[in-house]
Amino acid sequence: MKPAPFAYRRPDTLQQALADLAGEPDAKVLAGGQSLVPLLSMRLAAPALLVDINGLPGLAEIVVTDAGVRVGALARHADVLSSSEARRVQPLLAMALQHVAHATIRNRGTTVGSIVHADAAAEMPVVLTLLGGSVDVESTAGPRTIPAEELFLGPLESSLRPDEIALSAYFPALPEGAGVAFDEIARRHGDYALCGVAALVRLEGDRVVEARAGYVSVNELPTVLDLTADLAGVVDEASLAASAETAVAQLEPDGDIHATPEYRAQLVRVLTSRVLRAAYEDACERNA
Ligand code: FAD
Repeated sequence: MKPAPFAYRRPDTLQQALADLAGEPDAKVLAGGQSLVPLLSMRLAAPALLVDINGLPGLAEIVVTDAGVRVGALARHADVLSSSEARRVQPLLAMALQHVAHATIRNRGTTVGSIVHADAAAEMPVVLTLLGGSVDVESTAGPRTIPAEELFLGPLESSLRPDEIALSAYFPALPEGAGVAFDEIARRHGDYALCGVAALVRLEGDRVVEARAGYVSVNELPTVLDLTADLAGVVDEASLAASAETAVAQLEPDGDIHATPEYRAQLVRVLTSRVLRAAYEDACERNA
């Protein structure tokens, strides 16, 4: 199908882009276009105006400090994936990004666009939520920072207002004593996951003091569970199996055309214990 007619602007200053958005209530930001253009073509979205932000200066930067990684709105998934500095400070980014779509889509799609698109089947909203990150946005009314836990409201619904542009996403660094892991199951590599799990396990000495897991494609929102209680004693088959059962009970996985609730529950079970184990081993290795 062809998109419905729309007006198109490609401003070269942020002020002009914000003014364009403020002047048309039915406008949409165009970043990489890897989600928006298919929606336009299927006529699932028909905005009056597209404000293309690809001409704005300074938004493609990835700024890495020991405290965390700030990803600009025009940094492509591929840029973030190939940043060795970002990988050093927050290894979960690259672990998850290699599961996002295919190389051609990662070359164009932006990590910030993926976050504000707020698809529960996407990897980066879950990673941002698990790590306690945030998104910096701006409108003609001024800037604000939205913490990840306040960003996702429903399927494809974020707390950004229509006149706001997300300028960057901030991913805190790996905390001391922590390890991370990510895995997912998709019908083909690069497809959206039937179920994906990101995990962070933090040790003090030999003891697990924090174990949290975030879930892709399981519920309507990116969901993060605190599973510390199950792993606070010994980390072994029994405690990992217990954490997996806790996850299934708390999530009550949804069914859809891709998977029944029972099948998705089994994926949650298998991936929870697999990914928590890998995050625990990662923490042990980093602390050795
Ligand atoms: P766009 O398509 O340009 O925009 C998406 C939405 O976000 C629009 O509503 C737009 O207005 C808004 N938006 C974008 N940037 C901003 C901004 N800076 N400020 C305010 N609003 C903004 N993604 C995954 O996570 N996992 C996958 O496995 C996966 N598989 C895919 C497979 C295919 C075949 C395709 C086509 C896409 C796939 N994607 C997948 C989506 C891809 O990751 C997109 O890059 C991403 O969803 C959106 O980024 P974008 O820059 O292309 O945003």
